[in-house]
Amino acid sequence: MSMGASIDKAALLRRHGVQVTAQRLAVLRALSEEPHSTAAEIAAAVRSEIGAISQQAVYDALATLTDKGIIRRIQPAGSSARYEDRVDDNHHHLICRSCSQMVDVDCAIGETPCLTAAEDSGYEIDEAEVIYWGRCPDCAAAEQATIRAKQ
Ligand SMILES: [Zn+2]
Ligand SMILES: [Zn+2]
Ligand SMILES: [Zn+2]
Repeated sequence: MSMGASIDKAALLRRHGVQVTAQRLAVLRALSEEPHSTAAEIAAAVRSEIGAISQQAVYDALATLTDKGIIRRIQPAGSSARYEDRVDDNHHHLICRSCSQMVDVDCAIGETPCLTAAEDSGYEIDEAEVIYWGRCPDCAAAEQATIRAKQ
């Protein structure tokens, strides 16, 4: 990782009023290299970069960064939360039901809420969370190959 990128990430933290720590910088670096990682994956990446760090310290860093809007937390139904550093563009996600791979999909509208509720019940809506579930091309191809092998 280049020096310039570290300085950018430190500036990003300061801009959001967050104290710059080695842990928080390492978490941000892990996320820019592997977006949509789980907390456990981020902890492993951070450990390989800065050495021993408790799981709790990683969770604390993720919670702070999420609270400040520096990273985004995605909670797919029935699986671990994922984190990413692509924020503020209201993009959505495709998730494979078979291998859990998650990829970004741009929002056609680009701003929240991009879906208008038919009935808002008087709520001020600030977010429409969209996750498309299905199968990735690899898993779909693998299944096709299995079917062909059985024929
Ligand atoms: Zn898949
Ligand atoms: Zn994303
Ligand atoms: Zn949208």
